[in-house]
Amino acid sequence: MSPRAKPLRSRGDRTAVVATFDVTRACLSRCEHCYHRRAAPAGRDLQVTTMLAGLARLRRLWGIQAALWSGGEPLLRLALLRSAMRLFSGNLVMTSAMVPIPDDLGCGVLVSVDGPRELHDGLRGSGAFERAMGHIRRLTRGTFALATTLTARSLNAIEALPELVEASGARGVLVGFAVGPRDDALQVRGIERDIAVDRLHRIGTRHPGVLLNPRAMLEGYRPTAARAIAESCCYRGRAVAFDPALRVKWPCTFGDAADCAACSQPLVVARWAANRGDRASQSLLDGLFLKRPANGA
Ligand code: SF4
Repeated sequence: MSPRAKPLRSRGDRTAVVATFDVTRACLSRCEHCYHRRAAPAGRDLQVTTMLAGLARLRRLWGIQAALWSGGEPLLRLALLRSAMRLFSGNLVMTSAMVPIPDDLGCGVLVSVDGPRELHDGLRGSGAFERAMGHIRRLTRGTFALATTLTARSLNAIEALPELVEASGARGVLVGFAVGPRDDALQVRGIERDIAVDRLHRIGTRHPGVLLNPRAMLEGYRPTAARAIAESCCYRGRAVAFDPALRVKWPCTFGDAADCAACSQPLVVARWAANRGDRASQSLLDGLFLKRPANGA
């Protein structure tokens, strides 16, 4: 049986509680490992009023409680984003920090930083690291987290994570591995994945608090866990993804080319670990979507 996730959802079974929304097609980055760069849909973004009405309709239709806002770069549509987040009880914004990040978004914030300057710029383009760090340093320390996506070209980021977290003022870093098509050379597979997981465990032991990934969640990144991850993927029924036109992306936010057999999407893996009884992974999920206190509140 193929490990690719199959839909449990149907018109009569709308049970999604978490949704991922691509707020816009626009982005200032051209990240080599990004699903959006590979498969961004053509066309113009929806008008603000159309988008808000559509989001409210989808919330009712699918029973969505929490929203992950992605893109493109969601902060390029800041006014829309602020209004849209009021529709949902939990919100998490993923940003490249290529634009300023307001300190008062009132939601969880994950900032994508893929390692120290040379590794980050190697995936995202020259100057991306300096620009992102300039915006990150203006945030109140501890009110946001970093998100690092490991690729076959950037595994040396692992040992640099403690310094990166300290320099940025983040409350920690959520680590994942690149997800993409089966022939994607940036994916970390097989023995290399196992060794990378071992290295992450060592960082977690030596630098408590740096990794937001609980130990049980890290185990979900091992190749031996891949089939179980794909078969329990929350996009089978408790999560749904939408493109910038608010059309369902099948089967998940990565689109239909992604290889489920090597999936390491952090929220999917954290859900897998939480479903196996790991309380730390459940706490992680709850905390990511909790409302972020406004600056000074
Ligand atoms: S999140 Fe991962 S396992 Fe789930 S459908 Fe997407 S690629 Fe497959």
